[in-house]
Amino acid sequence: MSFIKSLKCIDCGKEYSPEDLIAACTECGQKGLGFGLLDPVCNYDKIGKQVNRNILENRKPSLWKYKEFLPISDESKIVSLDEGGTPLIKCQSLTGETGIKNLYVKNETVNPTSSFKDRAFSVIISRALERGASTVAAVSDGNAGASASAYSARAGIACYIFTPAFAVQSKIIQMSMYGARVISVKGSLIATGMLVLGACIKYGWFNITTAKVLNPYQTEGHKTLAYEICEQLNWQAPDWVIAPVSSGDSLGAIWKGFKEFYALGFIKNLPRMVGVQGEGADPLVKAFDEKKQFYEIEEFEPVTIADALCIGRVLGSWPLNALNESNGYAVAVSDKEILEAQKSLAAKEGIFVEPSSATTIAALKKLLSRRVINRNESVVCVTTGSGLKVLGVAAQVYAKPVQIEPSMSELEKVLSK
Ligand SMILES: [Zn+2]
Repeated sequence: MSFIKSLKCIDCGKEYSPEDLIAACTECGQKGLGFGLLDPVCNYDKIGKQVNRNILENRKPSLWKYKEFLPISDESKIVSLDEGGTPLIKCQSLTGETGIKNLYVKNETVNPTSSFKDRAFSVIISRALERGASTVAAVSDGNAGASASAYSARAGIACYIFTPAFAVQSKIIQMSMYGARVISVKGSLIATGMLVLGACIKYGWFNITTAKVLNPYQTEGHKTLAYEICEQLNWQAPDWVIAPVSSGDSLGAIWKGFKEFYALGFIKNLPRMVGVQGEGADPLVKAFDEKKQFYEIEEFEPVTIADALCIGRVLGSWPLNALNESNGYAVAVSDKEILEAQKSLAAKEGIFVEPSSATTIAALKKLLSRRVINRNESVVCVTTGSGLKVLGVAAQVYAKPVQIEPSMSELEKVLSK
């Protein structure tokens, strides 16, 4: 069922067989980490003969309705918890506040483990099973680890998750409840990644870290998010898609999804992509603003309230390409702006997201004030994870309840204040 015809180097264009088990272009990859990322390329002529808009519309909403676009050959190995098929919610109250008539939230918090990472891990664990893996390992600061753990549990395979010291407790609890062995490492994500690489070689584990730099197939699941948006907008792309950015792999994958539907003639327009990061953890924004290449931004110690976006380095040209090709934009938002946006999305639209997802609403407000986005344009904000995953942040700002005796007079006293 897989229609992938090659792996193409995003830096020099050299193509490899999809069966080549290599992480990077043999030529560009020599230059260092992040160079020569490989991207799976589908045979669109063949896919076009198998599916069309009508066929897709008649399939049940799910990530796997797009199976022709995904890198799995043996359908019996698919590991699914019914991920994808998430709602695209048209905002009402925020429309009044921002003045945008066509503002949507792609609500990824309703995925099985409450984050968009389930799209990636349904595909990753299915591929691991295809290759006979019995133990998998990943580096994750939270959502990816929770998702990896859940899909490993579903597949009946052992899972090790290596977390950095800053990982939030609630996400570690989630990983552990799914049965993963969680190991906290005192070091950067990059250093932890190197440890996991070594451990996978030593113990024969299958490395399932969601980084394109390790495995070109790791983020293919994310592109289905773009397919769904097109279908939900009646086969159109919005004018803008705003997405939070950590490594930037998912931003690149979402952009790829739009380009694939465009190449197949399923949509007639492409969106402009916006990548959002937290101020203090904004290497992609720096590269974009300063018109630099990804490797020209030196790694720094990241600090942001958006724990899922805590990154101090861009790994590869994949996310920058998405911004440049789509005539897009990159923007950083402060902790204060993130908390305000989180509260406003929850209180005005009923969508409670984690701080990293709230960055998209904060970014929208900023880009409206900078007149980058026009109020007549349509905008989709991608909210990637549930607010219930990081209650510690909301706990600092929520309105604590008043406690009273069960008497009407006490209630009246409270209501009168
Ligand atoms: Zn290359």
